[in-house]
Amino acid sequence: MKIVPISLPTPFYIGPVNVYLIAEDPITLIDTGPKTKEALEALRDGLRRARLRPADIRRIVLTHAHEDHCGLTKQLRDEAKDAEVLVHGWETGHRAGRLQYEENRALLGRAGVPAAEIEGMRKMYEGVRAYADALEEDEHGEIRDGQELEFAAGSLRVVHTPGHTPGSCSFFREADRTVIAGDCVLKRVTPNPVLSPHPLDPARRFPSLAEYLVSLARLRSFAPTLVHGGHGDAVSDFEELFNRYLRAIRERQSAVVSLVPASGASAWEVSREMFPDATDVHRFLAVSESAAHLDLAHSEGKLKVELSDGREIYRKP
Ligand SMILES: [Zn+2]
Ligand SMILES: [Zn+2]
Repeated sequence: MKIVPISLPTPFYIGPVNVYLIAEDPITLIDTGPKTKEALEALRDGLRRARLRPADIRRIVLTHAHEDHCGLTKQLRDEAKDAEVLVHGWETGHRAGRLQYEENRALLGRAGVPAAEIEGMRKMYEGVRAYADALEEDEHGEIRDGQELEFAAGSLRVVHTPGHTPGSCSFFREADRTVIAGDCVLKRVTPNPVLSPHPLDPARRFPSLAEYLVSLARLRSFAPTLVHGGHGDAVSDFEELFNRYLRAIRERQSAVVSLVPASGASAWEVSREMFPDATDVHRFLAVSESAAHLDLAHSEGKLKVELSDGREIYRKP
């Protein structure tokens, strides 16, 4: 069973995205790329090198539902005459075009983001959204942790690895301990724990960083020999990367905690201190990251939080 990476261009800051072809019955594509002509062309080329066409795809599995990973899904599904589409049930945000504006707006407000900034973020997201077609409820099925995706020879195990998003999944091939990890593992950058509503209680923020640490430890327990990420080269030394991630997260956490003044601060205020030069989408990612670190510090007893005028204010205990 061979895993073939195909690199596709994206219009996003992160650069090209990797999708993965498993050219074995049933022919399966893991992630699909953004909905652009260039990405579709590059995907066709990649499939052609394996003597395949989009119409040959029987199964599409998504690591998560960010536009750079899922954008072409509907188009490919139609071209492949109703290929099966699978995604984790917690990946609700973008999957079916339910953008959870209201939930996100409420969470951003609680994080102290001013109303005008929230409006700007919403407008910006409208632009990003154009790079993916929404899937209807009856156009996809769900994968769950521990499920085996069967192939003619061998299988891939679904490993739910929440953190970057609540429904992020990785795929583990036991035979050679290879993992396809989507944006859970990236060679050059520490993945952003994107601010999301909790799938089980949308009024709450998903504890993305705490969940992410568990996901990393789970992947580590497989002692992977090779990890294919959503962007950049594959990782052959996961142990080294795991330790680097942990160090980076601990350092960032200390920095975030030290930025909380005696008078208290919201996640938004901390993010503006931490990333004063951030503009447009980076302001959203900055507040995401600050909130994730504040949540983790709070859960570890390093900060306390109280609600003041509808905003969460963090203070040192
Ligand atoms: Zn992503
Ligand atoms: Zn990505």
